[in-house]
Amino acid sequence: MKIPTDSQGSDGPRPIPPLSQSRQGDMACETLYVCKHVHRARVGESEPAARGIKIHQVLATYINHLVKTTRTTDLEIFDALVRGAGAEAREVLEKFRDNHAFDPEKILATELHIALDEQFLPIEHPSGDGQIADYEGTLDLVMLHSLTEAEIDDWKSYYQIIEADTFQSKFYPLLLMCLNPSLERVKFVLEFVRYGVSRCVEYTRTDMPWLKELAQRERTRQRKLHELVSSGDRNLKVSPGRHCTWCPLLLNGCPMAETNPYGQLTAEERLRFALWLQEAEKQNTRVLKELMVEHGPLRYRDENESEYIAGFVPTEKRFYPYQDGASILDEWFTAHPDERALREKLTISGLSSAIKAEKRAELACKHFSPSSVQLKSEINGACLCKRHQKRHLEFCTAYLRSRGSGVRISPGAPFTPSPSVTYTRSFLVRSRQRADRHKS
Ligand code: SF4
Repeated sequence: MKIPTDSQGSDGPRPIPPLSQSRQGDMACETLYVCKHVHRARVGESEPAARGIKIHQVLATYINHLVKTTRTTDLEIFDALVRGAGAEAREVLEKFRDNHAFDPEKILATELHIALDEQFLPIEHPSGDGQIADYEGTLDLVMLHSLTEAEIDDWKSYYQIIEADTFQSKFYPLLLMCLNPSLERVKFVLEFVRYGVSRCVEYTRTDMPWLKELAQRERTRQRKLHELVSSGDRNLKVSPGRHCTWCPLLLNGCPMAETNPYGQLTAEERLRFALWLQEAEKQNTRVLKELMVEHGPLRYRDENESEYIAGFVPTEKRFYPYQDGASILDEWFTAHPDERALREKLTISGLSSAIKAEKRAELACKHFSPSSVQLKSEINGACLCKRHQKRHLEFCTAYLRSRGSGVRISPGAPFTPSPSVTYTRSFLVRSRQRADRHKS
């Protein structure tokens, strides 16, 4: 897409805005970046953005109140603040209410804005005295655990749980360590408020050189984009991806509108399509299974000699009985104290439903807490009246908050592993066996 050089406004070129995590995200597509940060297109506030802003406001106000009153929690105030939020924000905040307490002594700030110059030195009043920052970020919550250790909590209200390996998770600890030279270690926590789940990463001062390099590299990329717009040397690249979902050009002005998969269907149409695919896959699978029962494995070879086979595949699952397993493992761990790591990773499955029984209420009251909780982003049935019929699509993403090793001890199974052979629904084996004669 060619951007006219006069599009920067009649009052001449504007200074390059500081590199922030959201601007870095927008650089994934040059056209998106230029639209938002060079042309400064007016972007209507989306519902998710409004929800996020409200949640941040409530949490910041609440935590500031705790600091002022030196309390660890104040649910009355929390409830009063939540009442003023919209239904969706309220739903998300409910989760936060019961599983958070803060040490007011440790809280350094909420919504801490940090601005740095080109040399990574803090600027106190960016643009107030004419100095434009090169890097900036607003940290949701900063806690100081000691003079040398800090924690940044970043609240996310969206639906996907991601690992803390984003640009932001590196950039924010860098900003904080530059602001406070006494910090040796900073933990960055992504907190998915909706689920009460978090992901974290830690950086130390020894990481500073490469963190700075990363920021400098992104800043250079940002500068080059602005130079490109000024010179008009080449067309801007158009790069579709998940960032399309927040791009103001998606439905109006994306140069790739006709082929961009994100703009082909509305969100509702996508869901309907997914449900149609689900049904189609189910029907096709049913017919395939019936054919395979009759004819055995089915084969198809394409023109490139790649072969695809559909057949029933036995999968083996091993279960170990609790009865013998617990004592054998205890003996082992007593004799091998160096196996502590394995001991901590072992989990028991099949307990949740067993301890629900009334007669085991006392057992349920023991201090069992699951070491891993699986959260799935799932799609329910199509219409609201069928909300409670869970019909999961196969592409559900599993998020494991886990210390688990995957080793499971099941009650009631023999300790000598009992391989149970099952024929799973995922019987479709796609085998790409290219004939050797074609390779040679
Ligand atoms: S919608 Fe088009 S312009 Fe916007 S980010 Fe996607 S590809 Fe880029």
